[in-house]
Amino acid sequence: MNKLMAANWKMYKIYEEAKDTAEALVKLLDGKLPDGREVLVFPPFTALRGVSKKFKDEKGFWTGGQDFWPEKEGAFTGEISPGMLRDAGAAFALTGHSERRHVIGESDELVGRKTAFALASGLSVVLCVGEKIEERRSGALEAVLERQLRAGLADVPREIDPARLAVAYEPVWAIGTGEVAGPKEILGAHACVRRILLDIFENIGNDIKILYGGSVKPDNCAEIIALDNVDGVLVGGASLAAESFARIVLAGA
Ligand code: PEP
Repeated sequence: MNKLMAANWKMYKIYEEAKDTAEALVKLLDGKLPDGREVLVFPPFTALRGVSKKFKDEKGFWTGGQDFWPEKEGAFTGEISPGMLRDAGAAFALTGHSERRHVIGESDELVGRKTAFALASGLSVVLCVGEKIEERRSGALEAVLERQLRAGLADVPREIDPARLAVAYEPVWAIGTGEVAGPKEILGAHACVRRILLDIFENIGNDIKILYGGSVKPDNCAEIIALDNVDGVLVGGASLAAESFARIVLAGA
């Protein structure tokens, strides 16, 4: 299974900055992207078309939308549709990111609607799940993953092409904090996600990528990416500089 090395630029970078970073990334990885590695960048909406154009002729480079509203079109002021993301060059969409769950207030049910709608609209999806620190401390990790995955995937066809779906395990306490989960914690959570995916999708569940996200840096990525059931990473802060993200993309390859 290819490793998916994904960058979430969140609400950073105006158009020119995003294009420059994308161009620098392409140059740094020129001729170096190993077989079996793919690059995915989630820029802010205003830079999506510009970054997509920089990646257009690059094999193994993709862009995605950080969010969307699960309708084809209509009176949804301020929102953007999956069709509009595709029109701007996106192949992927992100759903269930912890900042949308816990800062914006998206429910498990809305995350599920979004995931199914994006897939039905022709986008591939990275569905994020992960526990808060108090949930981990109280022993609720597996219950949280189970709840978020079952709701997030409730309306996804059971015969989905597994290449179009990835799950990112992102413990909330490790996102943007510098506190990376240790190998034991990552192995345990990813094994749990795999078990649930197999239960939901049967054999197909083995081919759905599970990414790790939470303070991934150039210096810790090689160890993380080598762990069982880690099929890629989702990187926030350390993906904003092209040099740093290029080192992450190549880590341990
Ligand atoms: C993220 O935003 O998904 C993320 C993992 O952020 P960071 O790498 O900064 O922890």
